[in-house]
Amino acid sequence: MSGVQPTGNLHIGNYLGALVNWVELQKHYEAFFCVVDLHALTQRPDPAALQRAVREVAIGVLASGVDPDKSTVFVQSHVPQHSELGWILTCLTPLGDLNRMTQFKDKSVQQPENINAGLFTYPILQTADIALYRAERVPVGEDQEQHLELARETLRRFNFVYGETFPDPQTVKSQAPRVIGLDGQAKMSKSKGNELGLFETDEETLAKLRAAKTDPARLRKSDKGTPEVCNIFSYHGFFTPAAQREEIAAGCRSAQLGCVDCKKMLAAHLEAVKAPIRERATALREHPARLDEILAAGASKARAAAESTMQLVRERVGLRPAP
Ligand code: AMP
Repeated sequence: MSGVQPTGNLHIGNYLGALVNWVELQKHYEAFFCVVDLHALTQRPDPAALQRAVREVAIGVLASGVDPDKSTVFVQSHVPQHSELGWILTCLTPLGDLNRMTQFKDKSVQQPENINAGLFTYPILQTADIALYRAERVPVGEDQEQHLELARETLRRFNFVYGETFPDPQTVKSQAPRVIGLDGQAKMSKSKGNELGLFETDEETLAKLRAAKTDPARLRKSDKGTPEVCNIFSYHGFFTPAAQREEIAAGCRSAQLGCVDCKKMLAAHLEAVKAPIRERATALREHPARLDEILAAGASKARAAAESTMQLVRERVGLRPAP
């Protein structure tokens, strides 16, 4: 089980940190992937923009290779049990546990005009997302590690108080659990504006790469560089075949290869990954009824699984159906 927020477009960090693993895990496990629109409400998005973003992010997930015949792909708010379990778990979570969450502190700085209670209880809703499907593996980037730790503690508490109900959800990290943004400093993120978009064209990517930070010691092409300290070289690690990477590293160290050419090579390798994703996304945009069908089928499967868990949970905590 994993989710992605419909806030802005997907970027290379989402792709490398999470989506790559979603595609891999669906081959081996029963998988649930959702667009978490309830979580996005913590940022009070424009309603029409939210609806558009939900579809775009769902398209991105499918275009990246998540196969709706193998995985259940759905929208969080189509399964009302997420909110219901979220409340039950809220009543089990000590304030002190939430107070430690660094993402809440970061978001409070990012949106000081809107520090709402949903931002604070965000990780509990996330715990409900996972627990509803009694998920054992959660493929996410490193930024979610602390939330997953809280999820494990909360679900262990539920099991202790009400009897064994939920498995311990383990974090599954990809080879790139923390992709750095184009500024070379912070985690790549939509809110920081330092991202390489998954749907960007070759030209857009190249324009962004041109302005991106490289090894600060290379002011002129004739300055010798250290690839290990260069953010652009770290991207080569994800997209460029090993042999060519060696050549690039040697060219950087000897100053035979300039940063501009190095960036052009990266753009070409990125494009090889992004072009087919963009093509599949365009095809999905041209057939909105196909996306509706996938999301309707996903919601129906997810609701069935979620309701089966909720019947057990309601029974355990003492909530009885109406007579
Ligand atoms: P979000 O857009 O915050 O919903 O994130 C969706 C998924 O992408 C989560 O599993 C995140 O951990 C992952 N993710 C987001 N940004 C990055 C990044 N810069 N590096 C690696 N993974 C990331």
